[in-house]
Amino acid sequence: MIRWKRCAMNDQAHLELENVSYAYGEGKDRLQILSNANLVVGKAEMVALVAPSGAGKSTLLHLCGLLERPRHGEIRISGLATGALSDRVRTLMRRSAVGFVYQFHHLLPEFSALENVAIPQMIAGSSLGAARKRARELLEMLGVGARASHRPAELSGGEQQRVAIARAAANFPKIILADEPTGNLDPQTSTMVFEALLGLVREHQSSALIATHDHDLARRADRVLTLRDAGLVAIEL
Ligand code: ADP
Ligand code: MG
Repeated sequence: MIRWKRCAMNDQAHLELENVSYAYGEGKDRLQILSNANLVVGKAEMVALVAPSGAGKSTLLHLCGLLERPRHGEIRISGLATGALSDRVRTLMRRSAVGFVYQFHHLLPEFSALENVAIPQMIAGSSLGAARKRARELLEMLGVGARASHRPAELSGGEQQRVAIARAAANFPKIILADEPTGNLDPQTSTMVFEALLGLVREHQSSALIATHDHDLARRADRVLTLRDAGLVAIEL
């Protein structure tokens, strides 16, 4: 059991990076992605991350989602320092506190939209009935309630992404991490998907970090950051 309410550095933030450094490789092959990077994402705040391909956006999201460990520095989720935690506890934390949305939906092809949203809840301990109820509510909220019984292959790209967002939000994550979630969609559908994501972030008071190439969408976020010289810096688009 993870107790969230303690040692909070910043009660207004679910996601904090403090002096985080990360590199791939060693010696002449070393590729420095982050060097003493700092970031605080507040509750109900959406931060857009706009940087060229290869800059390290996905790596940063993986660090925030506890899929990688920083070489130096600390990542806190709801005030809880994650660096010293075991892999097992980090996995539990990831399941309960982090929602990921990817460019390609990664839905399970043999299951319906409803089941795709229910399954992570059941893995986290919900009953079938409660998981299905919440899945239906989320799909309704995202405007794809009528598609609940369809498999991913029977859905449009925008519908697939909204189901993927519902799945990411299913366990009331403290942080939502989205890696170019609209990279595969036309502009109109992108706007709809982005607004759906923003609505969830506001409703659940999550802290969200969204990597995107789309400047129009990034401007809809509360703040825009880029990766420069292995640091996170604010930019105006
Ligand atoms: P972005 O998401 O901004 O396109 P990535 O975080 O995927 O960037 O990658 C940042 C840099 O790190 C790229 O130059 C990429 O080639 C490199 N990289 C990514 N994963 C690895 C890895 N496992 N080993 C070595 N280099 C990697
Ligand atoms: Mg990437």
